[in-house]
Amino acid sequence: MTENWSVDEQRVRDNLLRIEEEIQNACAAAGRRREEVTLMAVTKTVAPELINVALDSGIRCIGENRVQEYLGKRDALHLDGVTRCLIGHLQTNKVRQIVGEVDRIESVDSVKLAKAISEMSLKRTGERTDVLVEINIGNEESKSGIAAETLEDFLGEIAAFEGIRVRGLMAIPPILTEDHEKRAIFSQMRKLFIDIRGKIVDNVSMDILSMGMSSDYVQAVLEGSTQVRVGSAIFGARHY
Ligand SMILES: *Cc1c(COP(=O)(O)O)cnc(C)c1O
Repeated sequence: MTENWSVDEQRVRDNLLRIEEEIQNACAAAGRRREEVTLMAVTKTVAPELINVALDSGIRCIGENRVQEYLGKRDALHLDGVTRCLIGHLQTNKVRQIVGEVDRIESVDSVKLAKAISEMSLKRTGERTDVLVEINIGNEESKSGIAAETLEDFLGEIAAFEGIRVRGLMAIPPILTEDHEKRAIFSQMRKLFIDIRGKIVDNVSMDILSMGMSSDYVQAVLEGSTQVRVGSAIFGARHY
């Protein structure tokens, strides 16, 4: 509903320009090319009209948290050429509804879920669904994701599933205030990403490192993120 929007359309455009400039600066500072980093617009709770402002401004990747919310909004979205991702925790019983409807599922955190996505993909589309493995990099009890130490075994277990293709890692780090702390945890993720690439297993092609949100995307880009997931810095504070 319009009255719930916390920013108007012009604000979204201004926010995108500012964020784009910051990403460019971070890439330059880190000696990276701008094309190495995708800016994902996180669209949970955002009305389709406002999401379309971002899409019409050139955003080519969106992330939604909830299956139901995404399916309810997507017909109203300008999604031509846009990569659609599910980034929220996914329950196995929702897999049936989402496979084939998005290009990537970024929140794979159990063998059971990976298996369910794989089986549904083969049944529904006959093709592999791209997935990321979610890492609980801060070992927080409140967060989903697998422990970093278990990643190699985890990949070994899901490597046999023919309906998924592992494209990389996703992380939601703890809330940290100091820039150097943020960078340290992103750097840890980057190391994990690089290490595991050296031990590649079948059907794993690690090329996406999804980390960095509204409060820390600059630090994430400085430390090697290839995809930042930005919501409130684009659309304003969320109203649930
Ligand atoms: C909501 C959400 C984001 C974006 O959060 P902001 O702080 O608003 O940028 C990114 N990733 C995930 C998994 C989320 O749930």
